[in-house]
Amino acid sequence: MLDNARQLLQNYFGYDSFREGQETIINYVLNNNSSLCVMPTGGGKSLCYQIPSLLLDGTTVVISPLISLMKDQVDTLLQAGIPATFINSTLTTEEVRETMEEVQNGQYRLLYIAPERLESQSFLNQLKRVKVPLIAVDEAHCISQWGHDFRPSYRAIHRLKEVFDEQPTVLALTATATPDVRADICRLLQIEEDNTVITGFARSNLSFSVVLGQDKNKFLKEFIKKNEQEVGIIYAATRKTVDQIHELLIKAGVRAAKYHAGLPEAFRNKEQDRFLTDEAQVMVATNAFGMGIDKSNVRYVIHYQLPKNMESYYQEAGRAGRDGLPSECVVLYASQDVQTQRFLIDQALDRERIPQELEKLQGMVDYCHTENCLQQFIVHYFGESNGEPCGQCGNCTDTREMSDVTKEVQMVLSCVVRMGQKFGKTITAQVLTGSQNKKVLDFGFTNLSTYGILKDKSLKEVSGLMEFMISEGLLSVNQGSLPTIYVSDKGKDVLLGKRQIMRKGVAVTKKIATNDP
Ligand code: ADP
Ligand code: ZN
Repeated sequence: MLDNARQLLQNYFGYDSFREGQETIINYVLNNNSSLCVMPTGGGKSLCYQIPSLLLDGTTVVISPLISLMKDQVDTLLQAGIPATFINSTLTTEEVRETMEEVQNGQYRLLYIAPERLESQSFLNQLKRVKVPLIAVDEAHCISQWGHDFRPSYRAIHRLKEVFDEQPTVLALTATATPDVRADICRLLQIEEDNTVITGFARSNLSFSVVLGQDKNKFLKEFIKKNEQEVGIIYAATRKTVDQIHELLIKAGVRAAKYHAGLPEAFRNKEQDRFLTDEAQVMVATNAFGMGIDKSNVRYVIHYQLPKNMESYYQEAGRAGRDGLPSECVVLYASQDVQTQRFLIDQALDRERIPQELEKLQGMVDYCHTENCLQQFIVHYFGESNGEPCGQCGNCTDTREMSDVTKEVQMVLSCVVRMGQKFGKTITAQVLTGSQNKKVLDFGFTNLSTYGILKDKSLKEVSGLMEFMISEGLLSVNQGSLPTIYVSDKGKDVLLGKRQIMRKGVAVTKKIATNDP
């Protein structure tokens, strides 16, 4: 069967080989195993059901929410010589009736429908008379409340179960790879979670880096100056910050445009145009900017402040290097930006989702503190398990030596235990550095044996060490309005001397600082 599939790929689509993941999915489908295919946009999901539709007996039904794209897709298939059609709200009742008649006569390999159709009993009755070997659910994250685009009509997909005597195979497809959404899709569409294929999230032309504890404005101006010939985007978390950065850059003589939801539409459009035509060299914006923008020569995306989660980050950073040329993605990290995001989460969302959003924010903070390959961190976050270190991100190219920090880590862990594992990061760092802060005194922490045990280090250094420990999973965070930290199982191993912890460049931090002109 797979040999046939390869032949069809060549004959109908003109491609010589499958992309990573396509073959595995097609194999699942042809063996009648329902499965979930997670690939980024442009990864090549459509072929995963279009090729099987040519090999299976009957008409493959494709459920897609994007009515505007249905006709294009069908036209493309028709041009390739594959009989396909669609039914959605743009058709008249008469056209729907005619199309369904043709479908029942077995005239089509593929039938695209909008999910709303499934809410109509008369449509389901008509579908009953069609042989359907495969149901492809495009944009499958729409079925999950945790997805960013929940559509109640997707829940009607389960009604298809009652329609056919012989159960069709289901193939769910999405570019949203977060574990909770994936689990939801599998549960609601009765797909075994093991039958999930995730690929293609790595973007080899992007170099990721995180800049910690530097003067952000100075960094920005120098970076832009160094990249004077290139265009880039700077994302900030709030409108106010966008205005401030924009002003700063204008004063520095940079051709900057700005974009956020607080600006009049005409102005926004003008700024967007200036950026698209390269008249402006830098776009300073909130996350309101970028949807549907296809500018291929963006050479860098800088996040002036931490984004709210890895999903948003990768989507925004991914606007760099669409043309495949080397491009940079930088996050400028400052711990107070975590507070800004916590505040925004607290403000904007329904209460139920807050813990989950805080959890995701922690993922973003972990990204900023990992010392492993950043590209690998990203693909792992999205569930892809393979991958070598990229060799070009800030961490892969960090040549500072590793040093043993087991002893310091044990000191921190033991202090967390002694404080009862119910306090936050800041006060723990204060206790470790021997602060006389009122809260420290009030709780009597000065009596702890770990009080001041790291007093030769600054509060900032100890906080940094603790962030590193969180990102390494040695400390865990109990999210809440006042997050607290506790020792994880991995952390317990370190306390028991069963694990050694290495960290890059810490031992020489001070030396670097004094050598810095
Ligand atoms: P997605 O649905 O994942 O966003 P598409 O299915 O639209 O992506 O595919 C994106 C592009 O990649 C299309 O132009 C498609 O023809 C092309 N493509 C898909 N599979 C292959 C392949 N095996 N070889 C070359 N090009 C491919
Ligand atoms: Zn790397």
